[in-house]
Amino acid sequence: MGSRDVLRRIIGIDPDAPDRFGHTSRRELDISHHVILYLDEITVSFDGFKALNKLNLAIDAGELRCIIGPNGAGKTTMMDVITGKTRPDKGSAFFGQTIDLTRLTEPEIAHAGIGRKFQKPTIFEQHSAFENLELAMKADKRVRRSLVATLEDADHDRIADTLRLIRLDQQADRPAGLLSHGQKQWLEIGMLLMQEPKLLLLDEPVAGMTDDETMRTAELFVSLAGQHSLVVVEHDMAFVEKLGGKVTVLHEGSVLAEGDLATVQNDQRVIEVYLGR
Ligand code: ADP
Ligand code: MG
Repeated sequence: MGSRDVLRRIIGIDPDAPDRFGHTSRRELDISHHVILYLDEITVSFDGFKALNKLNLAIDAGELRCIIGPNGAGKTTMMDVITGKTRPDKGSAFFGQTIDLTRLTEPEIAHAGIGRKFQKPTIFEQHSAFENLELAMKADKRVRRSLVATLEDADHDRIADTLRLIRLDQQADRPAGLLSHGQKQWLEIGMLLMQEPKLLLLDEPVAGMTDDETMRTAELFVSLAGQHSLVVVEHDMAFVEKLGGKVTVLHEGSVLAEGDLATVQNDQRVIEVYLGR
């Protein structure tokens, strides 16, 4: 009997039950066309000002995409639309082929497999790094296990694996409040990973990190790609270069250029947008 069957039997909750849209959420993610995120002509207006203006974006399953662009280009607003925080006035947003993000609430979108990291880490400073990952795992609504339930061996292994991945295995028992700024950021990424997101959205993840932490973060993201899809907003060009993925340049709420970093950096319109400010 698997753990899900046990849960079903003990607490009478079916973790795979359809949500109110009839989706069995995660199982439904359909990437048979290799596209995990598809934004089509998304427009968002704030008092008549278009923060996003017919934005089109397609992210492949397993891709590591960088989004760059001047301040106010609409990068954060784009993430707000994907996570359901902001509703578009026009356009469509799909997760895989079938999940219409504009019809889901923020928790439903998180549940469907989209994880977001904000700039300021939200970790439990009094708790150890290990406990932070444990709490993140237990807070996962899909599993609905009690916060006081004891850890199964498999859970323990998963936390240990994640600590290694985020390079905190030597810090497992230290209170998170004592970690460096960069280590706190990694811990929060680890907490996101405990929820097993398919798509990760990271807004300026290396802001405030040392050069060494920045390069280690790039290595971490490269290692996550494939298993996960990542959309990373970042200004740090050394970091973007190290990630090595396709780059999308946003400007005034739409895509100005797209391609590898060298191509977009040599694009005359991109040069004008950056130098013209
Ligand atoms: P970026 O992240 O690329 O710097 P944002 O998405 O934060 O840009 O903002 C895009 C534009 O939308 C900016 O001009 C910003 O002032 C405006 N904006 C963002 N959120 C709001 C809001 N809630 N109300 C009004 N204007 C907003
Ligand atoms: Mg922003």
